[in-house]
Amino acid sequence: MKAQLPAEKIIAHSMIHGEWVPGRGDHFSVRSPYNHQIIGEVTCPDAEQIDLAVKAAAAAQKEWAAVSMKERAKILFQFRHILMRDLDKISHIKASESGKTFEEGKAGLMKGIEVLEYALSLQNLDTGGRMEVSRGVSCEYRREPLGVILNITPFNFPAMVPMWTIPINLALGNAYVWKPSEKTPLTSVAMANALSEAGLPKGLMTVLHGGASTVEKLIDHPLIKAIGFVGSTSIAKKVYDRGTQLGKRVLALGGAKNHIILLPDASTDISGSSIADSFTGCAGQRCMAASVLLAVGNDPKINQHIEKIKERASSMVLGENMGAIITKEQVKFLSSMIEKAEKDGATIILDGRKAKAPAGLEEGNWIGPTILDHVKPGSHAAVTELFGPILSIVRVKDLTEAIEIENSVEYGNACSIFTSSGAFADRVIREASTGMVGVNVGVPVPREPFSFGGINASKYGHGDITGAHSLDFWSNVKKVTVKWEKQTDSSWMS
Ligand code: NAD
Repeated sequence: MKAQLPAEKIIAHSMIHGEWVPGRGDHFSVRSPYNHQIIGEVTCPDAEQIDLAVKAAAAAQKEWAAVSMKERAKILFQFRHILMRDLDKISHIKASESGKTFEEGKAGLMKGIEVLEYALSLQNLDTGGRMEVSRGVSCEYRREPLGVILNITPFNFPAMVPMWTIPINLALGNAYVWKPSEKTPLTSVAMANALSEAGLPKGLMTVLHGGASTVEKLIDHPLIKAIGFVGSTSIAKKVYDRGTQLGKRVLALGGAKNHIILLPDASTDISGSSIADSFTGCAGQRCMAASVLLAVGNDPKINQHIEKIKERASSMVLGENMGAIITKEQVKFLSSMIEKAEKDGATIILDGRKAKAPAGLEEGNWIGPTILDHVKPGSHAAVTELFGPILSIVRVKDLTEAIEIENSVEYGNACSIFTSSGAFADRVIREASTGMVGVNVGVPVPREPFSFGGINASKYGHGDITGAHSLDFWSNVKKVTVKWEKQTDSSWMS
């Protein structure tokens, strides 16, 4: 199904204490990457509104903390029901503002719903622990909410990335403040409305728009207890430094440059489509996209794999099974990077600059799948996060060289190997310098409850943002030791 742009402009104000309030700060318009038309208007809060919103969230959180997790889950069950009911509607909004295809919009929301299902299971799974440590003395773990937490999200997953943290935080008893990307702020309206309809008490979901100045005021607010950030590495580092200097816990996920190591013995049935889909999915605008293909050895089979990847990538139809690029500036940047790669010695074997814009959407931001072969290790195309549908092929002599190149890049989100050898796969699992590793999988995103998260310049802070390893980040674990005197009197209980 093609993405349907909203019939009327979506207005995104601030959600403060459960009400949509026009922001008294900056105003801006949102254009669809599909055709550059204005599809929404956004108003940003001023300093006073930000302060008011966080104080309202803190007051609401006190009451929410007193509610049992089972009661909180009842509202989250209802939230799931509404998201499933409105799946198509929300997916079209997401696609319209981010440039994703409708199917990608839907897949992202379904991934978010997977995290919601995990959060719903916490009431039965996360039972804490208690032990009698000495006769009459017990020790116990109790998980307690943090208070008001802040999440700052990127443009490329307007629902999935916020859904990494919304359900878990609400289940744990926190109040959630969301600063969506200024490039894709419209999905937040549908998501916050779904929570209100589900019966979430006012103040537990706050939405505040804007860029750096909104983020900075929020980080500095004394009632914000923890900060989650997902976006580029340079901003992740800034947010991490600012938050931690104030003594707050911060988990800031950054950019990526993901490698796929291709061995000649891999199955061509799997490699062609998996690798092509990995670098073209979401038009390459995802932190798990394959970016560098390390083609190992000079066995003729390697070229057969590359031919299959090229065949699949060439079959992508813009506007149908591959979406648009977020901004015109980014299209220009990608074109200049292709030009630079050629100057640096790469051969362009598939040139996305020649791809045709879909009929009727000529004003949109388009570039087709691009494959650069014989990219030099260390060159721009081999080490920089491009964030577009570009695959850089680096030819290497053996697996050792492939691993050395993978390890030399500053990022550490994901790495995959395509092979039919368990021993080679195991070596890459052990030696890859990434938080997530795949074997014969193009996009190695773990399913919940396995947590999502990279290492090195792809993540600042400790723990993971989703799954079992996120719980300690989003809560306090209280350790309780109890000893009662032996009861000697005879009371109504004895
Ligand atoms: P971005 O860093 O430009 O923006 C992310 C968020 O930071 C937005 O909400 C933005 O408003 C805010 N922001 C911008 N400037 C700021 C500043 N100076 N101070 C504080 N906040 C600021 O990222 P983007 O372009 O929206 O998203 C793409 C990037 O996100 C890519 O690098 C991609 O790899 C990364 N990403 C990473 C993951 C992951 O899990 N590691 C997931 C998705 C996207």
